[in-house]
Amino acid sequence: MEPVRAVLDREGWTLSSRTEAGKLRFVVDGARGRVCELILERPAAHGPVASVAPSFRLRVRGGGRLNADQKRAVAELSSGLRLILDSLRPRVGARSRPEAEVRAQTESHEGYQGFDLLLRTTLACNQRCPFCCVPPSRGRVSAESLEAELSVLARRLGPKGTLTLSGGEPLVDPGLTRLLESARGKGISRFVLQTNAVGLDRPGVIEKLASLGVRHFFVSFHSHRPGAYDRVTGSRGLYPRAVQALKRLFSGSGYGVTCNVVVNAWNFRDLPGLMRFLARLVRSCKGRGKGSVDVFFSMINGVGLAKAPESGVDLAAAAPLLREAVAVCEKEGLKVQPFAAEAAMPLCLLSHPAKYASRRPLGQDRVSYAEDTPGGRGIAAPGVIGRVKRLACRECRFDPRCLGVPVEYARLFGLVALESRP
Ligand code: SF4
Repeated sequence: MEPVRAVLDREGWTLSSRTEAGKLRFVVDGARGRVCELILERPAAHGPVASVAPSFRLRVRGGGRLNADQKRAVAELSSGLRLILDSLRPRVGARSRPEAEVRAQTESHEGYQGFDLLLRTTLACNQRCPFCCVPPSRGRVSAESLEAELSVLARRLGPKGTLTLSGGEPLVDPGLTRLLESARGKGISRFVLQTNAVGLDRPGVIEKLASLGVRHFFVSFHSHRPGAYDRVTGSRGLYPRAVQALKRLFSGSGYGVTCNVVVNAWNFRDLPGLMRFLARLVRSCKGRGKGSVDVFFSMINGVGLAKAPESGVDLAAAAPLLREAVAVCEKEGLKVQPFAAEAAMPLCLLSHPAKYASRRPLGQDRVSYAEDTPGGRGIAAPGVIGRVKRLACRECRFDPRCLGVPVEYARLFGLVALESRP
């Protein structure tokens, strides 16, 4: 890894490594003894191995006596180590996974309101979004492993915790109701359902799920134009069902609805139109009681971009449309969720970034800093996942509250779209 060796050579440091249970400890020695320790460890607080979320975190200890240049060099060193680490992470849906039966998978993700604990209840899906990071599988998630995961999650979440259920598409699983009942029996009573909503078009389904504790529906809806919807979702004929489901969701009460729009090559020009469409739909649904409707703009993650680079869009091209879409939301009274989750886009694309920034600092353990290079080449080896920012991002006032872009994005488009806001 070139950045690590370069920074060590430049500063005249040497690096030695030691392992302990659950930890990798890198000791950096300078001419006058130990400079700092970089410790890679499993984040116990955030649970078991996560597939796209961090499976390790990096802590820097010591270094208080370093001057500003040396501190910068330690940060560079950390970045280099993170890239090595990322290349070792397990991938979602590894091809070697057996088709017959798969284990339930729990992940932890930086969400826009804090860390989300997420359970993939099925890998089956009725759509085929090319950039989906979970390849559809005929393999059934074993009931035993789901039960075991639920027991662990119940202990970890406590009585007030919320569990996010995802897939695949959870609604294609005939066992979803049973699973919710089982989770409630173990003490988990609040759920977020991540879904494409297609199965919510039938009468009574939303009400049944809400009665079992689904407090929030996080609905992927990427285009209001049927042709583009089919293109983005890799499906045919499901658009009317998705719109019908949205109408039912917008007409109900007692739960929240977030429309998750993954900005991609096939929908970015339509973002303002999509927001107008959603606002009209909300207005047309009379009787909406308690509950909220909002929008979350997300970007394709590194796994998705590696799988379907043609679906990616240069953020420099998408930014004007994104800004217009946010302005439409503000005018039409649609709330926009903070640009603060693992899937969020960088704040500097917005006209008023402070308005949509996270109130808390976001974990930077997966973020590297890199020089921009034409086309992003040289930023990282192919297949490396994680997040990256420009070197200039260190001067940006949003740095601690921003996760930059996926490394795979930087490889495709470079980092020129990121504009530091000192
Ligand atoms: S300039 Fe960098 S740190 Fe600032 S918002 Fe953009 S990506 Fe984030």
